[in-house]
Amino acid sequence: MKFATLAVHAGQRPDPHTGAVNIAVSLTSTFQMDGIGKLRNGFEYARSDNPSRRSLETSIATLEGGKHALCFASGQAASTAILDLLEPNDEIVTTANIYGGTYRLFHKVYQKYGITVRVADKTTPESIQTALSDKTTLVWTESPSNPLLTLLDLAETAQYVKNFKNRKGEKPFLVVDNTFPSPAFQNPLALGADIVSHSCTKYIGGHSDVIGGAIVVNDETLWQQLKFYQNAAGAVQGPMDCYLLQRGLRTLPLRMKKHEENAYRVAEFLRGHSCVEEVFFPGFEDFPNHHLVAKQMKGLPGIVSFKIRNGNLPCVNRFFEGLKLFILAESLGGVESLLCHPASMTHAALPESERQKIGITDNLIRLSMGIEDADDLIEDLRNALNQLSE
Ligand SMILES: *Cc1c(COP(=O)(O)O)cnc(C)c1O
Repeated sequence: MKFATLAVHAGQRPDPHTGAVNIAVSLTSTFQMDGIGKLRNGFEYARSDNPSRRSLETSIATLEGGKHALCFASGQAASTAILDLLEPNDEIVTTANIYGGTYRLFHKVYQKYGITVRVADKTTPESIQTALSDKTTLVWTESPSNPLLTLLDLAETAQYVKNFKNRKGEKPFLVVDNTFPSPAFQNPLALGADIVSHSCTKYIGGHSDVIGGAIVVNDETLWQQLKFYQNAAGAVQGPMDCYLLQRGLRTLPLRMKKHEENAYRVAEFLRGHSCVEEVFFPGFEDFPNHHLVAKQMKGLPGIVSFKIRNGNLPCVNRFFEGLKLFILAESLGGVESLLCHPASMTHAALPESERQKIGITDNLIRLSMGIEDADDLIEDLRNALNQLSE
């Protein structure tokens, strides 16, 4: 079946006992047993597994074209589960353009366990290959990246990682944080990734009303290992949140199309405005590695970043004050248009020098297009930008 059909039906068929068309929010912490070691329906204790989470995990796995998914209380909890695969003296290879919270998790939480991080010089498969060492057990990537939307050839990266063996004689795991494209627009397992991670808070939920995370894998042993950790550490997604995410998934393909359409319109508008210095949008034909959009994606998320010409902090603040529709807030992927200031918000965890090096300057703004009418979004941006030039 096609994606839009699976988004509505995978993991969410009517309840065989009651006929209820929607998945029940299973508000129970535990399940009655029929005797020693005898589970009635495969469920024992809700942290280990429960009907609400199992449906959501089935849906997400199916939509990613993967065998197994595991859902967590947040995207960061999902990332933590992946990092638990590492042992002291292991090394993570990553690229400079990754989510600020992931950077913080690597440097401020895991480094004290003797896990090191090596950042590839450039966001290219070749640079990643050069950075691999006999300590590398994990390669962490994001494409398009947050917030500059840098594109990385995932199939080529996967090929390099596959052909490499670390000191344990193992190939490192290739992780792709697929939050930005969502399962609707990119499926990294098919491109050779071992692990796909999501902040479900963003496009999967889609309505800015829930925090959640997911991991998708194909490998049976890897799944068992991550599932063991999910139960042992316990940062699981609650049943009500599972329901909200499942409801979000049903309209994911529709929403993504509209987010994308709005992004094309707004990016084009920004590019033509005299107060805008630079626009970051992979849909532009002259955007670096633009060919990868057609090669590995089915569409683009509704994210456009741009720099205000000669914009210092007071100027950026004036721009924010001039907006009536866009809401200044962290996060992205909801039905309402949001904007954020990466240097002071999503990427505040990076030291100033690090931010400068990768282009997260004070005049950089990230827009997350909602599903409103593009004309209204453009009008709002035009008014706020025109006030700056006055
Ligand atoms: C938001 C985000 C995360 C973290 O997810 P939470 O649900 O906020 O914990 C990870 N990666 C990317 C790309 C994100 O945008």
